[in-house]
Amino acid sequence: MIKALLARLKQGRWTMPFPSDGIKLPPRYRGLPRIRSLNLEKAAAACPYGAISAGQGLDMGRCIFCGDCARAAPDAVEFTGEYRLCASQRRDLLLTEKEFKRAETLTRDLLKIFGRSFKLRQVSAGGCAACEADCNVLQTIGFDLGRFGVQFVSSPRHADGLLVTGPVTKNMELALKKTYAAMPSPKAVIACGACAIAGGPYAGHEECLGIPPEIPVDLYIPGCPPHPLTILDGILRLIGRA
Ligand code: SF4
Repeated sequence: MIKALLARLKQGRWTMPFPSDGIKLPPRYRGLPRIRSLNLEKAAAACPYGAISAGQGLDMGRCIFCGDCARAAPDAVEFTGEYRLCASQRRDLLLTEKEFKRAETLTRDLLKIFGRSFKLRQVSAGGCAACEADCNVLQTIGFDLGRFGVQFVSSPRHADGLLVTGPVTKNMELALKKTYAAMPSPKAVIACGACAIAGGPYAGHEECLGIPPEIPVDLYIPGCPPHPLTILDGILRLIGRA
């Protein structure tokens, strides 16, 4: 017994403090893009997903963070190590030279309900499972999503929020609508990953429909897939815990 306790003491604390200024991601991590100039012709020509429009900016909702634009036009686009990328409005994901507007918290009435206990039902609507893997990892000891009162649940009837991944294929559209309808009100919706936001690599494919307009999105989490810290930051921002 004493051996077990000593081993446990030696292991120390494995869960990372969050939010924290001490989080350091590897140099190769590509976070929030910084638009240095709206002369984006070269960057737009290099983007395989049409996420950049010259004179307008970079649509982080379509971006898969491949880095081709920054390699082609380093004087126009660069990637920072900032992992806090989530937005409340789709339009806020269009990055220009102006400051990025981060996600806002829910209204005070909703925070009273969700602020301390927020249960999520996840629907994988036709994606590649990378976003799902990064949601799964949030439940491990390193991130420990549960300490914030956030948990994934297996029934929409027990859920406060719907987290959608994937481009919503025709096959998954009905399941997604039924899941949303089965959730009690009030409820929040999270679009997680480039596919759920704008189709990602599948954008424009006839089998991919996107989240239907009758399911209003409250939080957009960009990335392909988003880093677990980006997802964690977005969810906590939504429920006023960031
Ligand atoms: S990082 Fe995003 S915007 Fe840049 S080329 Fe890749 S997909 Fe396009």
